[in-house]
Amino acid sequence: MRGCNFICKGVRLINNLKFIVDNNAGKLAKWLRIMGYDTLFFNGSDDSGLIAIALAEDRVILTRDTQIIKRRVVTSGRLKAILIQSDEPERQMRQVIDTLNLDWQFKPFTICLECNQPLVERSKQQVKDLVPPYVFKTQSQYMECPACHRIYWRGTHWQAMTKRLEKFMNKSANNTK
Ligand SMILES: [Zn+2]
Repeated sequence: MRGCNFICKGVRLINNLKFIVDNNAGKLAKWLRIMGYDTLFFNGSDDSGLIAIALAEDRVILTRDTQIIKRRVVTSGRLKAILIQSDEPERQMRQVIDTLNLDWQFKPFTICLECNQPLVERSKQQVKDLVPPYVFKTQSQYMECPACHRIYWRGTHWQAMTKRLEKFMNKSANNTK
């Protein structure tokens, strides 16, 4: 089993995985948030800053920068970092999912895609004046981001993203057979 040293300690650890994505692999952040994983996007260029946050918050680093992977803090195993191989976001995602044995259906629809905050459930009445009328008519389940106050619902945009994820996961599963 790949990545066993890290993940065989138990399910709880897998569920608690948090990430920090380097700016050279930025699209991964959105996909991990779609799956429900707490994921920071590192916008700086200072490797030490990235490493400091990862250590302080116990986050796995996802980067295309080989210099980070060669650092002692990583080679010693104190900090987990994955060197992302592909340029292509869907392949990058597949690498992360396979390496860490992530559940791509972990907790969809629970994290703000923009600011990584856990979403809070809202009743239909609470969002009445905040969503377009056609949405209000057709949707019953709403979530709000406490930071940016975006309202989320399982509408066409969300469905398109989860379908894309599902299609890709099925496709690559078939390819490996
Ligand atoms: Zn937000």
